[in-house]
Amino acid sequence: MSSVSGTVSGSARTTTGTAEAVSGPRRAHDAVVAALLRAYREVPAGTPVRLGKRTSNLFRFGGAPATGGTVHLDTSGLAGVIEVDREARTADVAGMCTYENLVAATLPHGLMPLVVPQLKTITLGGAVTGLGIESTSFRHGLPHESVVEMDVLTPAGELVTARPEGDTADLFHAFPNSYGTLGYALRLRIELLPVTPYVKLTHHRFRTAEEATAAIVELTASPVDFVDGTVFSPDEHYVSVGEFVDAPTPGARVSDYTGMDVFYRSLQRRPVDHLTIHDYLWRWDTDWFWCSRAFGVQIPAVRRVWPKRYRRSDVYRRLVALDQRHQGSNRIRRALGQPEEEMVIQDVEIPTQNLPRFLAEFHEHVGITPVWLCPLQLRGERTWPLYPMEPRTQYVNVGFWSSVPITGDRWEHNRFVEDLVASLDGHKSLYSTVHYGEAEFWERYNGPAYRAVKQRYDPAGRLPDLYTKVGGGA
Ligand SMILES: Cc1cc2nc3c(=O)[nH]c(=O)nc-3n(C[C@H](O)[C@H](O)[C@H](O)COP(=O)(O)OP(=O)(O)OC[C@H]3O[C@@H](n4cnc5c(N)ncnc54)[C@H](O)[C@@H]3O)c2cc1C
Repeated sequence: MSSVSGTVSGSARTTTGTAEAVSGPRRAHDAVVAALLRAYREVPAGTPVRLGKRTSNLFRFGGAPATGGTVHLDTSGLAGVIEVDREARTADVAGMCTYENLVAATLPHGLMPLVVPQLKTITLGGAVTGLGIESTSFRHGLPHESVVEMDVLTPAGELVTARPEGDTADLFHAFPNSYGTLGYALRLRIELLPVTPYVKLTHHRFRTAEEATAAIVELTASPVDFVDGTVFSPDEHYVSVGEFVDAPTPGARVSDYTGMDVFYRSLQRRPVDHLTIHDYLWRWDTDWFWCSRAFGVQIPAVRRVWPKRYRRSDVYRRLVALDQRHQGSNRIRRALGQPEEEMVIQDVEIPTQNLPRFLAEFHEHVGITPVWLCPLQLRGERTWPLYPMEPRTQYVNVGFWSSVPITGDRWEHNRFVEDLVASLDGHKSLYSTVHYGEAEFWERYNGPAYRAVKQRYDPAGRLPDLYTKVGGGA
């Protein structure tokens, strides 16, 4: 494996929006980009190329491993924030900057990205090309909708600044949900949102999915700042509302879920709560929503000795990747005479009015709990060809991340979910396993629009196409 190196990592710097000489971090960034471009152009045609990233939040482990000839582009120099413009409320950010670093750079200015995906190592480039989401998405849409412009290294080896209008608008609009197959985002300018030091949380409990759905519609129409939800069982639903506040209500506690307390359990016990804005944004990361329970981390005796710095989503994901690679859990199950398990890890978008039907079918046929709910709506009239959502229509993202015993076909439950989503006018995101046949896939993800942009920016087929990548693991 050969490697291409760029070594300067940018750090945050503030400007006031006035014209200035090129800053140190920007010069450093430009040097890294120039080195990366040179290195990419030197890769012989036909040699597979991959992003050399230390972390990933993909959930496809079945793909072909990188061959000895694969070139991994070293992106370690693209992990920082180049500049925060406090006055304009924008930031220039390197493509592989994690949201953990991005938030650390913007919060001191009283600002945050409009949407901050919950897992600390999700990168800005990954969330734009792979569609992130969070509890501000009912108002601010998905992360790509607050991108002002982005520099993309195209598969043909050009550096292109893609903007919503003009000659590169096709790339700008097709980039979300292209999973790196139309090139790599090296710099993105994004809008930022002012924050307050605290978030007041109210967890509303509902017995039925119909009641919870009605509450989502009502609460997202009210002047609140964050909305998401959690389904513990078919008759226990929570809709959690967050509001920016300057200070906690007098006498109220400010909670901390990075210690012995586990955030998702607090929904059932603490109807009103306060968190710092920092802890609110990372409330789900410490226990990877609830998925840390698979490692025993929620058992007090284990939690006490599990080092705090390892209570993070990227640590748990690495453990799952290891298990998947070696099929450890399934080997043990086989040895014990138990059925093997099918991973059912998906996030799907369902039009809000169809949510109760989706949940009823899901509980009956799949049965994973808890389930995460997150309302979302496109910010305006602009649509995105590779992920066809309707403007002025609210959807709810339903996330479920666990496994179920295999009783029939190896991917029976995943196929069931794909069919159910289609029958309810929804779609699913592509970060996890994909089981559509090729024709069905292109029908659902706008093959004609994709092919036109792919042909323009990757005429020689330098990077795999979207179906090859997400259907075959990448
Ligand atoms: C259990 C689970 C729960 C999840 N829940 C959420 C959630 O609640 N909210 C949420 O927002 N997301 C969630 N995700 C999905 C996550 O946002 C996506 O997988 C996202 O693409 C990951 O970004 P990453 O930076 O880790 O990218 P990677 O995992 O490294 O890469 C993802 C893809 O993007 C490509 N890519 C990465 N960087 C770039 C770039 N700069 N330019 C072009 N292409 C690039 C890669 O080639 C790859 O195909 C979840 C994922 C899992 C596994």
